[in-house]
Amino acid sequence: MKIALPLLSLAVLAACQTASLPAPQPETVAMAPDQTSTAEASPSPGEQWLLGSAEARIIMVQTWNEIAGYVEAQAAARPENSVILAPGATAEAPEYLACGDRPLAAVFDADETLIWNTGSTGAFRREGMAFDPAIWSDWERTGAGKAVAIPGALDGLARIRAAGVEVIVNTNREAVNAEGNTETLRAAGLGDFVHGSTLFLKGDTPGGSAKDGRRYAISENYCVIALVGDQLGDIADIFNDKSLRPAGRLELSQAPGFDAKWGKGWFLLPNPLYGPSIDGTMDEIFPPETYWTPTQKE
Ligand SMILES: [Mg+2]
Repeated sequence: MKIALPLLSLAVLAACQTASLPAPQPETVAMAPDQTSTAEASPSPGEQWLLGSAEARIIMVQTWNEIAGYVEAQAAARPENSVILAPGATAEAPEYLACGDRPLAAVFDADETLIWNTGSTGAFRREGMAFDPAIWSDWERTGAGKAVAIPGALDGLARIRAAGVEVIVNTNREAVNAEGNTETLRAAGLGDFVHGSTLFLKGDTPGGSAKDGRRYAISENYCVIALVGDQLGDIADIFNDKSLRPAGRLELSQAPGFDAKWGKGWFLLPNPLYGPSIDGTMDEIFPPETYWTPTQKE
């Protein structure tokens, strides 16, 4: 296990640097060099839970029902404000973009929000590899048909579209791979998205993986009544402050101005595989005030 530690650090760093793009799991980089064949590889606990368990499917379906129900109600109510934070908004002064008479839209992240990257995740696992940007780019170009719609997503999107709400994707997949990314979403049954209209990719606006610029671009034409993702950056860039430790992210997410939005315009789906949520030292995760040792040892 010792050999995994520096590699794991790199994995976490990679997860931070690539924002919401998939990154390696600790189990992947901990795999011994000779454990690379299909017969010897095994899924990580996170992969088993997310991609294979009844529990994960149920949570996804529950959440998608909640999302669709919220969007249907908001479409009927026609809100004055969108759920996209206005430029300069803070936790203390959360202001949202005005809707005007723009048509309604719901904005979704793609990876681990609309689709599970089962094909690439399995390939990295079988090869015993850490996340590789070049291989990921290849996956964006050629993975159509091997990424699957997340349970509940197809029914949820059908209800949202039936309510007259446009479905828009804002993903950190690359604009240079627009064709493959569009085909991946189409092949998963999620719809025919149009780059620059209903599909926004990294590179469409300045800021790299930061998504606020794309959210503002979408808001020029739409009133966004729901934001859905698997990471906080899918909601607002203010949550991606790299100086924040896990406790700081927790505190910011619970600020009074923000806490009321969860489940009411802002929605997150679980992703235990990668990203900035996978962080924390022993003391951060197991605070000293909770220290306990078994009273009986053999
Ligand atoms: Mg994602």
